Amino acid sequence: WSVETVAVVTGANRGIGFEIVRQLAGHGVTVILTSREASAGIEASSVLQELGLSVAFHQLDVLDDSSIKEFCEWVKEQYGGIDILVNNAGVNFNLGSENSVEFARMVVDTNYYAIKKVTKAMIPLIRPSQAGGRIVNVSSRLGRVNGKRNNEELRAKLNDLETLSEELIDGMMSKFLEQVEDGSWESGGWPLTNTDYSVSKLGVNCYTRLLAKEMADNRGEGEKIFVNCYCPGWVKTAMTGWAGTISAEDGADTGVWLALLPDQAITGKFFAERREIGF
Ligand code: NDP
Repeated sequence: WSVETVAVVTGANRGIGFEIVRQLAGHGVTVILTSREASAGIEASSVLQELGLSVAFHQLDVLDDSSIKEFCEWVKEQYGGIDILVNNAGVNFNLGSENSVEFARMVVDTNYYAIKKVTKAMIPLIRPSQAGGRIVNVSSRLGRVNGKRNNEELRAKLNDLETLSEELIDGMMSKFLEQVEDGSWESGGWPLTNTDYSVSKLGVNCYTRLLAKEMADNRGEGEKIFVNCYCPGWVKTAMTGWAGTISAEDGADTGVWLALLPDQAITGKFFAERREIGF
């Protein structure tokens, strides 16, 4: 890898995202560290620049359409394109197993819809190359399609790659949010703990699979983009109240490995600790 390779990491001012930037840059890649708060991102990137790493900063609020647009224009102007996109930004208001129903919309918007928006805006910027473009989505085992707690009918639909569609995933999100709003979510077959977070990551997992299929079907040789997601484990970051069992450095490891994976056959898969796990 060389400084000619350009990676973008969202929500990278702290936690796992920051570590992904540090490790990717450590492999010689040029990394654009993004954050919604410019001051936090500038501070974080200066720490890495002082280590001599090739790290640039730009503001990116994944919930803000104009911020996404402005970021893409800047990337095009400065770099012409990118090679790697790591969708890391996320929120979780379910510390422990409490549900925060009032935050459900925010969680689904940030963890699921924003990943789609950022990805769709950035795909045209991913350069054709022999190595192939890479998209890595930071997800969670809590969002497993085959999680015991998800209702069976839904599982069957989401598991069938022939019928999996964006409409199906979006429809699931709308149904979930509707049931949160009218108070009937407990009977809806959703996970009963960490509910909104788990549903949002279920969306990420399904979208990863779907996008990988689309990229494999619709792009020619040399234009391929490989799309995978991973669970970082239970990580000591603000999100877990620093109660996790592993460091952010270890939590970033599989994401960095996927972003730089030489084996191009790997796409549309879910990983943890550098091993494929079932959706
Ligand atoms: P942190 O809370 O430390 O970091 C989350 C990052 O996302 C912050 O930089 C935050 O920015 C950013 N973010 C949130 N909303 C937005 C937004 N609208 N636009 C841009 N950035 C935003 O958590 P982690 O590092 O632990 O989490 C990183 C990823 O890993 C998340 O996707 C999370 O779901 C996932 N994950 C984490 C696990 C864990 O155990 N920690 C387990 C499984 C998955 P700001 O500083 O401005 O709030």
